[in-house]
Amino acid sequence: MNSMNPSPEVEAVETPLLSVVIPCYNEEEVIGETMKRLKAFCSGLVNLDVELIFVDDGSSDRTRELLKSFAAEDSRIRLIGFARNFGHQIAVTAGVDAACGDAVVLIDADLQDPPEVVHEMIAKWREGYDVVYGTRIERPGESAFKLATARGFYRLLNLLSDVSIPLDTGDFRLMSRQVADALRAMPERDRFVRGMVSWVGFKQTALPYKRAERFAGESKWPLRKMLRFAIDGILSFSTKPLQMSVDLGMLCASLALAGILYAMGLRLFTNIWVEGWTALMIAVLFIGGVQLICVGILGEYIGRIYSEVKHRPLYIVQEYLGFNQAGPAMSRSPVVVKK
Ligand code: UDP
Ligand code: MG
Repeated sequence: MNSMNPSPEVEAVETPLLSVVIPCYNEEEVIGETMKRLKAFCSGLVNLDVELIFVDDGSSDRTRELLKSFAAEDSRIRLIGFARNFGHQIAVTAGVDAACGDAVVLIDADLQDPPEVVHEMIAKWREGYDVVYGTRIERPGESAFKLATARGFYRLLNLLSDVSIPLDTGDFRLMSRQVADALRAMPERDRFVRGMVSWVGFKQTALPYKRAERFAGESKWPLRKMLRFAIDGILSFSTKPLQMSVDLGMLCASLALAGILYAMGLRLFTNIWVEGWTALMIAVLFIGGVQLICVGILGEYIGRIYSEVKHRPLYIVQEYLGFNQAGPAMSRSPVVVKK
């Protein structure tokens, strides 16, 4: 057929679709309010259809039940119920995998990212940007400790990695279809979504917004999880720690060499010599410590390789609800590496 002459069906312009991905973990106190705010947001959309994809990350409270009742009332609501808790980054990934929209928005369930800001993101997207990420100009209700560590972490990450990841940016963002597809083609297990989105490129822009306080409930990120997340961020985006461990080893070896030469020099050319075992002990402990650190860094990378080669699925879905067929239209194709 003549491909230059598209059939009328193709020519008919469909309303673009916006997919909003909302990861939820034990959010029973907030989810009702979130639903209200999201619905209000949806009714303000002009010339844009919407699907709300809630990902229940294995909540142990009534979150799933509440989400199911919302989904029963509204055909725009979809639910992906995980078989257990897989973590925020994986929940977001599942949402992006299932999203069919021309643009995909990631937003937290606790209303810290105000849904109203998404209107501004959409405006930027219509201007032609592929990624619009929210940067926080204010973060009320967060401890000074969290703010300071977050800042330090992003500085360190940018120092260590080759992709520049914007400061004060979380996962609250809008992505075009192309970027969402690029993200879906990245099969890695240790996911640091904001870094991965920076990495893909395209036209990206920041949108400053005031981060609100959590509406109710508690943060689901204890210090241990934050630390793990930070390590994931650094190790997934940089092999500099490996180079640094080599540098550190060289430094120690040259210090030791200098010490040996010094001691030998004293012994050969003077009547005094280095005495005692204290210096020896310190040297042994120091080198031993450095070796352990280096082996530990190596171990982190090897652990990652191990978990990658196992090729397990990133997440296990217990139930899909509100999608057209049995599941989402497009499911993650297992590890297809596009060249
Ligand atoms: N979340 C999740 N799985 C987890 C932890 C958190 O899906 O294991 C969700 C949580 O329900 C919320 C979002 O991720 O919608 C951000 O979590 P939280 O508000 O606890 O993080 P913070 O804002 O304190 O960084
Ligand atoms: Mg929060």
